[in-house]
Amino acid sequence: MSVISISGLKKSFGENEVLKDINFSVNKGDVTCIIGSSGSGKSTMLRCINLLEEPTGGEIIYNGQNILETKNIPAYRAKVEMVFQSFNLFENMTVLKNCMIGQMKVLKASKEVAKKEAMYYLEKVGMAPYINAKPRQLSGGQKQRVAIARALAMKPDVILFDEPTSALDPQMVGEVLEVIKNIAKEGLTMIIVTHEMAFARDVANHIVFMNDGVICEEGTPQEIFTNPKCPETKAFLTRFM
Ligand code: ADP
Ligand code: MG
Repeated sequence: MSVISISGLKKSFGENEVLKDINFSVNKGDVTCIIGSSGSGKSTMLRCINLLEEPTGGEIIYNGQNILETKNIPAYRAKVEMVFQSFNLFENMTVLKNCMIGQMKVLKASKEVAKKEAMYYLEKVGMAPYINAKPRQLSGGQKQRVAIARALAMKPDVILFDEPTSALDPQMVGEVLEVIKNIAKEGLTMIIVTHEMAFARDVANHIVFMNDGVICEEGTPQEIFTNPKCPETKAFLTRFM
């Protein structure tokens, strides 16, 4: 049973057709890694799924509902959370408040419950000692771990990650990938845009290769990394491996 199903998805910016005809679906518990060159449309696709961009055509179905008909966008985004390359934390709020505010505003959780949940997930990502810090006092890796805890605290069905480690200094990439791997083990459905091929191979059960606004090829990590069929996939992978 697919959680998210995308068919005939198109997106243009003016004359520039960025997504040409995207079709794929994600089942419950899938960890899907989206790979592909810069500019191939990966972020635009995730942004369409999160309703940050309006598709020019096609459909995105979430749990049987066309998301373009969503009335309550914050409630939808609580179910399909997004973690950004640039963290997007609330700079004026403490780490703890960052992880409470969405629960209180969108899920209508009480302060007590929101705090308890926030603490639970901050603990999980190793950020409990920093609850009173402001984002500017944290390293990039720490900020991203807070962003992940904030997403988890909303108890989403799906988390979308857009290059979660691309803005990090190399020594911080590992700690964030480790956190994502641990969440994956718990069975949360995730769609992860990444350039970390070893990580993708390890964590995903489904790899989607995008090139120039289309999906060239998708399959298991074994199929894509060991036996790619499209010339574009082969060329892309030889640049990384
Ligand atoms: P990727 O994430 O694979 O690097 P993007 O989805 O960011 O690719 O971008 C794909 C193309 O869409 C690029 O050519 C980019 O310039 C264009 N693009 C993305 N967002 C916008 C926007 N808001 N306005 C105009 N063009 C955009
Ligand atoms: Mg991108």
